[in-house]
Amino acid sequence: MIYLDHNASTPLLPEAAEALVRCTPRPGNPASLHQEGQAKRRQIEAAHKAVQGLTGGPDSKVVLTASGTEADNLAVIGMARRRRAQGCDRVVVSAIEHPAVLAAAHLLSGEGFRVTRVAVDSSGRIDLGALAQSLDAQVAVVAVMLANNETGVVQPVAEAAALAERCGIPLHTDAVQAAGKIPMDFAALGASTLAISAHKLGGPRGIGALVVSRQAALDPLWRGGGQEHGLRAGTQSAALAAALAVAAEHAVTRASAPEVVPRRDALSAALAKVPGAFVVAADAPRLPNTLSVGFTGVASYALVDILS
Ligand code: PLP
Repeated sequence: MIYLDHNASTPLLPEAAEALVRCTPRPGNPASLHQEGQAKRRQIEAAHKAVQGLTGGPDSKVVLTASGTEADNLAVIGMARRRRAQGCDRVVVSAIEHPAVLAAAHLLSGEGFRVTRVAVDSSGRIDLGALAQSLDAQVAVVAVMLANNETGVVQPVAEAAALAERCGIPLHTDAVQAAGKIPMDFAALGASTLAISAHKLGGPRGIGALVVSRQAALDPLWRGGGQEHGLRAGTQSAALAAALAVAAEHAVTRASAPEVVPRRDALSAALAKVPGAFVVAADAPRLPNTLSVGFTGVASYALVDILS
């Protein structure tokens, strides 16, 4: 089998699998002061460092979560709820966000927030003019993903964050698809928070992370033992953290792998010869690994069924 569906989930790297298997049987809780606990604590801290290394945020706080979905929810809901106290009751998201962000915004609408979805242009990039017009002092949080999971189109997050910043609004970026595929610089993006997920970059399913700038203020979703800078209560899995750390370290070097683009483009050129085929956002800046192709008159679910 040739497995191409890396935006859904990547194969587990052998080195990450080895870390998972090595660490899983060991007892201990990272919060315990004894030797076993402290060994686990060090694995958690190493994972924080590896995520900082991958995302380019040496001064950031890293919060380990159970998934990219949880990291997105923590950011969007956590920042919106915190800014409610300042009279903010609006949330602005790009229309192409993953359901992890859109559903979090929907939950907030049930809490009285007004949600604005900003459209993308014909190349699949957020319309920055429309974004600018949608921002005012009532906006609690803006969410613009770094790269779209279906088209691979890389979004102008730094420009969006600068627009938000002018109104004093924090911006969350969902970098779940971008991490490990393109180099990232959290500080340069100007985002307040950034989400990643281990299983999209060669790590295991069941762990993600939220990178949080020192200035960001957000409410935790869970109450409990104060783990992860008080932002994600619950005993961490040192084994999952160790595997995430390995995957994140590998992803730093892989993120600019030069051989991927010509392969993607060769596949694209071959598929474009099929009658009725069209490549989505062919001229936009895209993730090197992502190709979105449509076939006029062919239902996508039927095609997936046949191809699988
Ligand atoms: N955000 C994006 C852009 C995604 O593509 C995905 C997964 O497909 C997620 C968030 C959710 O990540 P997870 O599967 O770790 O919950």
